Amino acid sequence: MGLLKTSLGENQFVCIMEFVPKPSAERFAALESIMARTHLCGWPLTVAIGDRVASALDMSPLDAFGSFTKGLPALPHFSGKARERDDLLAQLPRMDAAGLDQLLILTGDRLPGHVPGQRPVRYLESVAALQVVRQARPDWLLGAALNPFKYVEEDGGAQYFKAEKKLSAGADFMTLQLGYDDRKHLEALHWMNRQRAPKPLIACLMALTHGRASMLEQVAGVTVTPSMLEVLAAELAVSKQHAQQRSLQRLAVQITGLKLMGYAGVHLSGIHDLAQFEALEREIEAAQAHLQTLEQWAPAWAASWQMPGLPAVRFNPAGAYWRLGESHVSASPQEKARYYLMSGAHALMFNRRGWLGRAFGWAVTRPVWSTANGARVLHGLERGIKRPMLGCDTCGRCRLEDTLYICPETCPKGLANGPCGGTSLNRCEFGDRECVHSVKYRTAKSVNKSAVLTDRLIPSIEVQGRHRSSWPAWFDAARGGVRVPCEHRTIL
Ligand code: SF4
Repeated sequence: MGLLKTSLGENQFVCIMEFVPKPSAERFAALESIMARTHLCGWPLTVAIGDRVASALDMSPLDAFGSFTKGLPALPHFSGKARERDDLLAQLPRMDAAGLDQLLILTGDRLPGHVPGQRPVRYLESVAALQVVRQARPDWLLGAALNPFKYVEEDGGAQYFKAEKKLSAGADFMTLQLGYDDRKHLEALHWMNRQRAPKPLIACLMALTHGRASMLEQVAGVTVTPSMLEVLAAELAVSKQHAQQRSLQRLAVQITGLKLMGYAGVHLSGIHDLAQFEALEREIEAAQAHLQTLEQWAPAWAASWQMPGLPAVRFNPAGAYWRLGESHVSASPQEKARYYLMSGAHALMFNRRGWLGRAFGWAVTRPVWSTANGARVLHGLERGIKRPMLGCDTCGRCRLEDTLYICPETCPKGLANGPCGGTSLNRCEFGDRECVHSVKYRTAKSVNKSAVLTDRLIPSIEVQGRHRSSWPAWFDAARGGVRVPCEHRTIL
């Protein structure tokens, strides 16, 4: 059993050191010297090996794992960027051979060069990937991501809805997005503790300097506010050394607080050498010596973000304050009308007992549609009707009923189960549209269908099934008396 699984199972606080693989012997040697310590403040160490962080050409986590001179407790990541189900399945035996049985599964952020409307890039969604691995390797330790640093209702509500699906799909623990808002850290913990079977939460952290914060401002899903930047700039204005010292002390205070809150561990990013690691260890020991309750911790955390002459830091974007449990938004009249129109049309055309549904089913299951030319014509017909109306890409297995009639292919990553973590104030990571999952959230709330967004796990679409009509399969399955699972339902 892996070290991480054992530690989480024993409720032992853990420290996961993030390693982004690059072909640099110095980086590998530096990480190995840290890992040789085996513990941070008595907490067991595991290395998390990033996947496709910069591009699809990055060194793979398994190649990186094989490049260490000695075996390390490791948590490889799997990113769904530009990947299909088969890519994931192919990785599993390689992990078996390497003795690895734990995996953090992510959809992944935007692949560089992916421009919506140009060459399509497929993302294997984390929920579907979790289902695949859970089925293939029932005993593995599987992790998933959660981004609670959302400040408008649709954005945040949709994140938590999708997180419920990740738990149902088999996640054993969740790692949070990098973040600094302690109220959001607590919120995520309260959310998890209300789940039927709560799982450990791990917080992702990084010592923040002005340079890093400026870089993180550009990273999708990470919230860095102007007042945070002001404090960091003021620290830098004193001296670079002062700024680095403060950032390490602040990280130590944050780790101490998260442990007191009840987090299962921390995932540390940006600690690159043994000297930094040891300095952090000293700071954590100092912080723990005088911060033994959350009441003692809260003013210390606030002080770590104060500089003379500057107002108190705000971790939320200006004008956006949403907290889990606040419920204000509703769908627009057009959004509701659209939903009712589509669900009505679905009930009419695809009800196998109604005369119209039976007639339509008879028509689209004639043998002529199984020929190459017939299939092409039917595909063109479905696409011609649904593309202008819904943005349909004729994926071959229509999921509209499970997505409140908002086509998943209108999400640039093609996500069906919910949003990725990269949204900001309801805007898509790609910046060119409102996140379709925010629209779904609003609609679900207004038409009393929220359970659709938490309960229906939608598998991935196979590449070979794309670009054909989904209609015959729906009616063929129905005629055979097979109960059609939700992922195989179709509409329109
Ligand atoms: S078949 Fe349905 S889910 Fe698939 S692309 Fe078309 S509208 Fe979207």
